[in-house]
Amino acid sequence: LDAEEFRRQGHQVIDFIADYYDRMSDYPVHPSVTPGFLRDVLPTDAPRRPGPDAFGSALQDVRDLLLPGMTHWQSPRHFAHFPASSSTVGALGEALIAGINVVPFTWAASPAATELEMVVVDWLGKALHLPESLLFAGGGGGTFLGTTCEAILCALVSARDQKLAEIGGNRIGDLVVYCSDQTHFSFRKAARIAGIQRDHCREVQTYHGDMFALSPTELQAAMQADVDAGLVPLFLCATVGTTQTTAVDPVGELCAVAASHGVWVHVDAAYAGSALVCPEFRHVIDGMESVDSFSMNPHKWLLANNDCCAMWVKKPCALVAALGTEQEYILKDAAAEGHGVVDYKDWTITLTRRFRALKIWLVLRCYGVDGLRDHIRSHLRMAEAFEGMVRADARFEVVTERHFALVCFRLRSPEKLGGEKTANQLNRRLLEEVNAATSGPYMSSANVGGIYMLRCAIGSTLTEERHVNDAWKVVQDRASAILRKMEI
Ligand code: PLP
Repeated sequence: LDAEEFRRQGHQVIDFIADYYDRMSDYPVHPSVTPGFLRDVLPTDAPRRPGPDAFGSALQDVRDLLLPGMTHWQSPRHFAHFPASSSTVGALGEALIAGINVVPFTWAASPAATELEMVVVDWLGKALHLPESLLFAGGGGGTFLGTTCEAILCALVSARDQKLAEIGGNRIGDLVVYCSDQTHFSFRKAARIAGIQRDHCREVQTYHGDMFALSPTELQAAMQADVDAGLVPLFLCATVGTTQTTAVDPVGELCAVAASHGVWVHVDAAYAGSALVCPEFRHVIDGMESVDSFSMNPHKWLLANNDCCAMWVKKPCALVAALGTEQEYILKDAAAEGHGVVDYKDWTITLTRRFRALKIWLVLRCYGVDGLRDHIRSHLRMAEAFEGMVRADARFEVVTERHFALVCFRLRSPEKLGGEKTANQLNRRLLEEVNAATSGPYMSSANVGGIYMLRCAIGSTLTEERHVNDAWKVVQDRASAILRKMEI
């Protein structure tokens, strides 16, 4: 590694990224390309030797071939998915992590990285108003993983092994796990990987009247039916901020039901967890004192570039019992024993780990908790304004209560069109036309309880009020054109 070359290429990369951000508005959010567009123009084999200025010419290809074929998640007009939060400090934190490139799988493998992670998960947990029982300071603890999928799997195998130690390993086929029909698919995937029988994953139905939140009464009925059938309730995955509509499951009441059956409760707040930096959201996790594990993704909405999922557990020993390993070649430091430091390889699935704590530490230091609150609140204000514009146009309706910065809305079905099916078709067409508008917004849809709706998720760091106003204007114009063509 040549330090001078690194400096020169590093400047090129920073210039490249700065220019990309400067020109972000010139790109359509979603490219109009067809499958194979890139494979057709790239060589089928890697070069045997680098050409002259290989790095410069590769960067040129990124600019000319790749960027035009990307969905620009950082565009201020990207409203389709929960954000992939980006910031100067988050991006530079990633560069530092890659540059320093340590592998903190044990304390000895990188003492400062391990200890920083222990400090920063507590900092973040406190900033999010989590109960002490989940922090190192209160006997629990946390770690930084890549994604929520990993966090849920780690929690689930810990719960499984704890329960099997109690009832006998031969009863794995009797274990049952619970979620709602709105829970992210990562839970069902984790259940499969953890060896839970496919028909032992209970998806409790949710209803529009409850804003698609999981009902404690229905959960209790499902658990009792399983107990009566001789099965063993194991795990509940509750969600604060579901993917489709940001529904909030009532954590406290669900914990009470789960406790009566000895069930491990995990709260998935992948998106909405970031909003907990604002004290006005503390109520959405009322009852959190009783949960066994909690996870959220700072890479979604907390200015931490991809990737980072933070997970906390009340009983780290359950994680270590399920995921801990001993291998002679992995040097341990005998002097560290009994000093309350952890070997993070025993908390996760992987051995090789990234030094994500460095990025979160930088983000917390450079923006401060107040800065993060301002960031979240600015999106909340824009979402509120968008919601207000939808409500002010009688042709539209807001379908589900807005909890955070996602607005779920749709065109009402005009009288003469009739039923739900036609309303769904109408809104499908509306979304297609909105997304087809060059230099327009990019939105997505949800289909919940048979109701098709458009999703406008505000969260890009570059989004300003004018982008939200423009987006609404495009929606209105397209709706008018569609209704006009249908002579309504
Ligand atoms: N849970 C919820 C509520 C989500 O919204 C998402 C993704 O949007 C996930 C889990 C999956 O997160 P990840 O991609 O980090 O696994």
